[in-house]
Amino acid sequence: RTGVAHADPAVSDAMQRELNRQRDEIELIASENIVSKAVLEAQGSVLTNKYAEGYPGRRYYGGCQFVDEVEDLARERAKALFGCTFANVQPNSGSQANQSVFMALMQPGDTFLGLNLAAGGHLTHGAPVNQSGKWFNVVSYGVQPDTHRIDLDEVRDLARKHQPKVILAGGSAYPRIIDFKAFREIADEVGAKLFVDMAHFAGLVAGGVHPNPLEHAHVVTTTTHKTLRGPRGGMVLSNDEEIGKKINSAVFPGLQGGPLMHIIAAKAVAFGEALAPDFKVYAANIVANAKVLAETLADGGVDIVSGGTDTHLMLVDLRRKNLTGKAVEAALGRAHITCNKNGIPFDPQGPMVTSGIRLGTPACTTRGFLTDEFRQVGRMTMRVIDGLAAHGEEGNAATEASVREEARELVARFPIYD
Ligand code: PLP
Repeated sequence: RTGVAHADPAVSDAMQRELNRQRDEIELIASENIVSKAVLEAQGSVLTNKYAEGYPGRRYYGGCQFVDEVEDLARERAKALFGCTFANVQPNSGSQANQSVFMALMQPGDTFLGLNLAAGGHLTHGAPVNQSGKWFNVVSYGVQPDTHRIDLDEVRDLARKHQPKVILAGGSAYPRIIDFKAFREIADEVGAKLFVDMAHFAGLVAGGVHPNPLEHAHVVTTTTHKTLRGPRGGMVLSNDEEIGKKINSAVFPGLQGGPLMHIIAAKAVAFGEALAPDFKVYAANIVANAKVLAETLADGGVDIVSGGTDTHLMLVDLRRKNLTGKAVEAALGRAHITCNKNGIPFDPQGPMVTSGIRLGTPACTTRGFLTDEFRQVGRMTMRVIDGLAAHGEEGNAATEASVREEARELVARFPIYD
């Protein structure tokens, strides 16, 4: 029994049940992953005890010589991984990384362009409920109704018309490669800075299977916990020295106090893992697996938004089956396939119901699933969807139970945290 089990059984029991859930379920949430034991250990380390406001060599506290080493390792590895000259590894989350860019490059009231939430953008890209939407003048661009791809003509027209300070590219539910070069050309034409949020696909960039936005963007943010497979957290990268200085001031003292040094240690460990050759295999498998999952679902009679995927994620349009994302998320959950309901472009349903689900392959790829397993997962998913369409929530129980049993057998072949 661990220290927590002894000291606090209530918390420990819930943690144990969460571990069992992760072991037992087929995890298809596109933003989640399964970190290594080394990453877990670093996060749970004594570095949580240390205050280290400031940056390596320039701290506001004594006793920082060892955490300085850790933060330097994290920064150097991040720069090597993404081919850039500046890294700030202190943001506590992806949202705070994004806030730091806004703070560095804009004043409240300034205009920026971002991908619509309904078309796959993130809350922090200007949603009205988010600080980014409340404090700045947001002009949103969307996707084309027929192709579901970003409409670069619209982006150019909006940029010319509104003269934004910043153009933001990237999102949480956009399954296609973004043309960063074209975005940079538009930014240059209107004198804006190009900001790419690669939170979702950073692991694919690190693994060499996705274009690197740092070749074109002025500044790039990411979370460290999605495809990149590190601890929960954020990071800002750039090749522009002046922007780097502004980002450093924006993260600390602009937005945060003492950095989470245990998380920075875990970031360093994860970046070390991502620099190893087998990370390339993992990244290539994520993409190959996503293509097979999307094809299997399309063969089963649902539409895949934009007709497929270039990345780790896909959006499934459930309207041909007359089902909502809410109902399908719940039914798949009962069958031990975990995903999230997600709005699709031009969704007739509201965000709590939706017409779609978002599926991703990173977590199960980490577990060891290859294309055969993802074909099986696709078929299992379609059995639940078809059962729900034919028999409704009550009538689908037998199908869900049988898929749940199949899921149990499948995950047992790919154990985690033994
Ligand atoms: N940016 C994108 C594109 C995301 O998808 C997310 C998280 O879902 C974030 C930023 C925010 O990250 P966090 O949840 O760490 O604040």
